[in-house]
Amino acid sequence: MTITVPVRVRLAPSPTGTLHIGTARTAVFNWLFARRHGGKFLLRIEDTDKERSKPEFTTNILEGLQWLGLHWDGEPMIQSERIEAHRAAIARLLASGHAYRCYASEAELTAMRDQQQAASKAPRYDNRHRNLSPDQERALIDEGRQAVIRFRIDDEATIQWHDLVRGSMSWAGADLGGDMVIARRAPADQIGDPLYNLVVVVDDAAMGISHVIRGEDHIANTAKQLLLADALELPLPVFAHTPLILNQEGRKLSKRDGVTSVSEFQAMGYTPDALANYMTLLGWSPPEGMGERFSLEEAASVFDFDRVNRAGARFDWDKLNWINGQVLHALAPSNLREQLLPLWQARGWATAGPTADPSWQEQLCALLGPSLTLLADGIEQAMPFFTLPTTDPQASAQLGNEGAQAALRALLPNLPEGDLSPEAAATLLDQAAETAGVKKGVVMKSLRAALLGSLQGPDLITTWQLLHAIGADQARISASL
Ligand code: GLU
Repeated sequence: MTITVPVRVRLAPSPTGTLHIGTARTAVFNWLFARRHGGKFLLRIEDTDKERSKPEFTTNILEGLQWLGLHWDGEPMIQSERIEAHRAAIARLLASGHAYRCYASEAELTAMRDQQQAASKAPRYDNRHRNLSPDQERALIDEGRQAVIRFRIDDEATIQWHDLVRGSMSWAGADLGGDMVIARRAPADQIGDPLYNLVVVVDDAAMGISHVIRGEDHIANTAKQLLLADALELPLPVFAHTPLILNQEGRKLSKRDGVTSVSEFQAMGYTPDALANYMTLLGWSPPEGMGERFSLEEAASVFDFDRVNRAGARFDWDKLNWINGQVLHALAPSNLREQLLPLWQARGWATAGPTADPSWQEQLCALLGPSLTLLADGIEQAMPFFTLPTTDPQASAQLGNEGAQAALRALLPNLPEGDLSPEAAATLLDQAAETAGVKKGVVMKSLRAALLGSLQGPDLITTWQLLHAIGADQARISASL
């Protein structure tokens, strides 16, 4: 794909909720496209819905983007601060005859829609006030009516554009629901609050947006926005409509599907790298040979809309978990420690005594790292290193047999005073097996049961070394006898 204009893209979230995975994926595609073409990734907070917009949602969205590494250029544009520019555009449309005031009351509009429904017709505004004479208009104002402002949509028009994902697109003017409201109801000498499609067009032009990349649920808006931009004589951006994210049943992912906010994924223990990687795969196929595990920078070096699918992208937890595991397994122990320590300390662990030693903590991370899927797994798996484990039935059964008891009795007096090296540990196991007259495997299984209260767990020798280093092995073995 040849891109000639300087690329300026934007994410335009509405702060009416926390950062949704769909918005975050749109952000990823915008960011990748900007990076690929050396362009700018801008942010616009669409906070014109005064009732539903909340500052805490703006904070959540900005924090979520930062956490994912989707840094934006410059200061975010705050849409509500631009109302005068929006009103000026509406005034121009009124002056040029592209827009007019419509005095139809809510009751009249409802009656109109009821009639359409009864006749099995699609609901649409019937353009009834499009050509009011000055006298008719005066009479309506004298009745005390207020007016919305509507933008004329020619039923005969065909709106066409080339979409970077979907190719050649065409929308019939007749399918846009009649003349569109661009400003809320207000007295006839005023311009009421400007509405979504109008403000987007004005702001995209003000920001010099070259490409609008957003979900395919905006396609009908695109048709309207192209008409508005044309009437306002504004430059038209190129559009790319990305596929929706679907749930397991193939329906649009919604709040009902449980986890949908980036902050919820964060709280569940997903890493930003893994989530950003996975979101890139939601609708984009990496080139042959790239595999499915990559960084945002790596994806940016090859990102192209030619490889964005048209079909919806099904959310696949197994794949996300696999990627998250890959990311965690690749982390250096020191890095993993930085991430796990706050989670441990929140539980009162690793704050004092030998478990507060950073190098011991790092060794524990090296031991646990390879078996983590979620960061939070590093809490559960670390628990027996910080607290006395309860013994599960299998471990209990193991400890109940005679060979196990003999093995542990043979081991206990030989525990070294100082460090336990892997070689010394191996020798101690061999000696205990010989003294107790059992196989080495029995000694190992019994030791694991005594140390962890379970027959499962990470590498035994390292586990033992770590517990020995904090002086916990002797007590646990004694307690099992
Ligand atoms: N505020 C709109 C949304 O969150 C933005 C749509 C657009 O990108 O134009 O859906």
